[in-house]
Amino acid sequence: EAKSRGRNSAVLFEPSMHTTMSRKLALRNELAKAVSASDLSLVYQPIVSLEQKEVVGVEALSRWQSLSFGQVSPGEFIPVAEEMGLIGDLGRWAIKESLRQRGLWNQRGLVSEDFYISVNLSALQLVGQEVVVYLQEAMDTNNLRGLGVTVEVTESSVMKNYEQSKCTLRSIRNLGIAVAVDDFGTAYSSLAYLKDMSFDILKIDKSFVDALGDDRSGTGNSIVAAIIAMAKALGVKVIAEGVERRSQLESLYELGCDLVQGFYFSEPLRAADFEATVSAIEERLRFLQRRPARIDR
Ligand code: C2E
Ligand code: MG
Ligand code: MG
Ligand code: MG
Repeated sequence: EAKSRGRNSAVLFEPSMHTTMSRKLALRNELAKAVSASDLSLVYQPIVSLEQKEVVGVEALSRWQSLSFGQVSPGEFIPVAEEMGLIGDLGRWAIKESLRQRGLWNQRGLVSEDFYISVNLSALQLVGQEVVVYLQEAMDTNNLRGLGVTVEVTESSVMKNYEQSKCTLRSIRNLGIAVAVDDFGTAYSSLAYLKDMSFDILKIDKSFVDALGDDRSGTGNSIVAAIIAMAKALGVKVIAEGVERRSQLESLYELGCDLVQGFYFSEPLRAADFEATVSAIEERLRFLQRRPARIDR
């Protein structure tokens, strides 16, 4: 920034930096209070199976409506919580609250037993076994089996403390909970690590979904096809994230993608809006015909 202004303008302090710093300090104070008062909420985004043509799960996403800042996105407050050492409490709350909701849907007969709630975990939560205890407690309290729960971790958060994270994830999987690798393809992926760490679901990042069908050479489609082929070779399911258009859905269907998630179907929903939307989505899948027969190796 400063460089591009020429060598005589030594910019030591940018107004925008000032805003960012003071906003961050103020956010910290208010976030600390919000977390201790459980003054956050969760929204739920449907995950759709292209095989079953139905909603098979939801991803739980945290929301914070701050008194002074209004709606603050998790992209902003999760890193702040991580820096401040609040992520342990926030993460625990997210597990408790999402599994409580999952239990309620069960009680009301809204979902089947294998319908799953997917909770995002931060790197720090993968260090040590507390998160395993929290998950176990919340499953017991809400009468849930592992089948009804998934956790999402990014490659980069696993890589931060690889051995410990691997150990924590193993304990989580021992509870019958599936592990999804989130934002796949955006970090420094290592195929060796991917093969070594055991997981169940790979989530193709939105950036690859965005590139579907947008060039004549078909590179976008080839990359997604390659990720899907790799997932099949590893024996894991694939979810495409950030599906916004019908054309993307159709491409993903033809490429043999198992599951999809995105604004095309639904934005993340308040629990109360969930039921109505699920039937609307299933209506929307009717046009998909049988997937063309594909020749496997
Ligand atoms: P993520 O886990 O990759 O979640 C997907 C994000 O993409 C969500 O953003 C979701 O609202 C958004 N999204 C879904 N479909 C579409 C679409 O079709 N188009 C577009 N443009 N966006 C779509 P959100 O809710 O803002 O969350 C951002 C990130 O914050 C999440 O990315 C996750 O990494 C993190 N996060 C959210 N809640 C939690 C939490 O409770 N714990 C932790 N550790 N992280 C969280
Ligand atoms: Mg996620
Ligand atoms: Mg993601
Ligand atoms: Mg993300």
